[in-house]
Amino acid sequence: MGLMQPISATAHPYANGSYKQMLIDGKWQDAQSGKKFETHNPATGELLATVAEGDAGDIDLAVAAARRAFEGPWSKAKPYERQALLLKFAELVEKHFDELAMLDTLDMGAPVMRTFAGKQRILGMLRFYAGQATLIYGETIENSLPGEIFSYTLKEPVGVVGAIIPWNSPLSASIWKIGPAIATGCTIVLKPAEEAPLTSLRLGELALEAGFPAGVVNVVPGYGETAGAALASHMDVNKVAFTGSHFTGQSIIRASAGNLKRVSLELGGKSPNIVFSDADLDAAVPGAAMAVFANSGQICSAGTRLFVEKKIYDEFVGRVAEFAKKLKVGNGANPDTQLGPLVSKEQFDRVTGYLTTGSGEGAKALSGGGRLTDGELSKGFFVQPTVFANVQDNMKIAQEEIFGPVISAISFTDMDELVQRANNTTFGLGSGVWTRDVSKAHRLAKSLQAGSVWINCYQAMDPAVPFGGYKMSGYGRESGVHHIDEYLNIKAVWINT
Ligand code: NAD
Repeated sequence: MGLMQPISATAHPYANGSYKQMLIDGKWQDAQSGKKFETHNPATGELLATVAEGDAGDIDLAVAAARRAFEGPWSKAKPYERQALLLKFAELVEKHFDELAMLDTLDMGAPVMRTFAGKQRILGMLRFYAGQATLIYGETIENSLPGEIFSYTLKEPVGVVGAIIPWNSPLSASIWKIGPAIATGCTIVLKPAEEAPLTSLRLGELALEAGFPAGVVNVVPGYGETAGAALASHMDVNKVAFTGSHFTGQSIIRASAGNLKRVSLELGGKSPNIVFSDADLDAAVPGAAMAVFANSGQICSAGTRLFVEKKIYDEFVGRVAEFAKKLKVGNGANPDTQLGPLVSKEQFDRVTGYLTTGSGEGAKALSGGGRLTDGELSKGFFVQPTVFANVQDNMKIAQEEIFGPVISAISFTDMDELVQRANNTTFGLGSGVWTRDVSKAHRLAKSLQAGSVWINCYQAMDPAVPFGGYKMSGYGRESGVHHIDEYLNIKAVWINT
C-alpha cells in the first residue's frame, strides 16, 4: 500500500464506507436488533464503515457459541495444534500487515510512522503466544502427609473469555487478548471499542481464514454500556480481560460479581518520568517528549508527570518545549506525520478542557496549549503538543489522566522527597528515570510503585517482558511467561497410592 498521499477511506480495501457485520460462531451476522453505528476517520471526519451494533442479545449468542466451542472439539485440540493455528494466524497478519496498520491509522488516527513500526512487535506477540501453547505444565509436589499420597497440579483453560479493549491501539490490544486465549485453549468473545472497531473485525476474518474452529474467536462490536456491560456481567463467561479506564474497570469488577468470574485489568496511569541533571540530556529531551507525545498522548503508560531536577529545570523543560514545537502534527496517513489527531470529539473536548484547567491553575504552556485548526486540520481533532511548566503536585493536570499530548513538568531537588512525590498518585503503571548514576537508577527502580520502570529509555515493550499495573492501574500482567496464567486454572490432584 503506497504511503505517499493521505489515504482516503475509499482507497482502503476494508474501510471503504461499507457495512460490517459481527462474527459469531464462525458466521458474519447482523445485530439481532438490526442496529448499526458509524465509525469515522478522526483526521478528516470521513465515514469509514457502518458496523453492526451488538448488545446483550448478541453477547448471549456469542457466549453460547464460545461455550459450545470450548466444550466441543476445541477442548481436544492438542497444544501443537493451537500453536500451529496461532502461527498460521501470524502468517496471515504478516501478509496483511500494511492493511491492518493502515486500518488502525484510519480508525483511530495514529500516524503510519507508528502503526507500521509495530510490525515486529505484533508478529512477535503472536509467535510468542504460539510458543507458550506448548509450555503449559503443572508441578509434582512433595507433601508431608503420612502414607503414600502423591500430589501434582494440572493447568486448565479458564473457559470462555470476554475481552474488552480500548481504541488507542486496536491491533495490538486485540492480539494481546486473542493470543493468550488461543494458546491456553480458551475461547473468546472480543468486544472492540466503539470508536475503532475495524481492525478487530478484520482480524476476525483472518482468524477464520487461519482455520480457527467456529465459536473459538467471536468479535462483537458495540457500545460499552450495552455490549461491554453484558459481557462483563454474563453468568457463563469465566474471565474478563479488560483494558481501558479505571472508571470502567471498577464497573467491570462490580459486574463480574454475579458469578465471581476472573478479572484482569490493564487501566490508566499518570506515570512519572524523572530526569536528573547527570543524565545524557541529548537523549533525555526526545525521550521525555516522546514518552508523552507518541500516539498523541493516548498511551496508558505515557510519562505525563515530568519530574526535572531543579538545577536544570528551566533549560531542560525549555528544550522539551522546543522539541514539541517542531513535531509535525497532521493526518496520520501522511508518512511524515509524527502526531495524529485525538480519536474523537469526546476525547478532544476532554483534552482541551485540561488545557484550560492547566492555565487556570497557574501552569505555563511553553509550547502548544490549544487546538490546531490550520487548513485541513480544521476537519479533525488536532491538539498542539503542549508542555506545561510551573506545575505543582496538587494541580489537576498533575493528578488526573489526560490521555492527550500534554506534559506536566514539575521540579524536584531532594531524592527522598522525589520518591514520595513520584509515588503520590492513585496510579502505578509506567515510570522513567534518566541518569548516568547506576546506584540512583537501581534505588529508584526499587522504590517506584509502578509495573514498569524504564531507565534511560521509555515505553520499551517486548512480548517476553511482563506489562501491567500497581494500584489503580489494575492487576494481572500481559506479555511475559506469566500472561498465560491469567487464562489458566490450577487444579491440585491427590492420589493415595
Ligand atoms: P474506556 O474504559 O472508556 O473503554 C474501554 C472499553 O470498555 C471500550 O471497549 C468500551 O466500550 C468498554 N466499556 C465502556 N463502558 C463499559 C462498561 N460499563 N462495561 C463494560 N465495558 C465498557 O476507555 P477508553 O477511553 O476506550 O480508553 C482509554 C483508557 O484506557 C485510558 O484510561 C487508558 O489509560 C486505558 N488504557 C490502558 C492500557 C493498559 O494496558 N494499561 C492500554 C490502553 C489504554
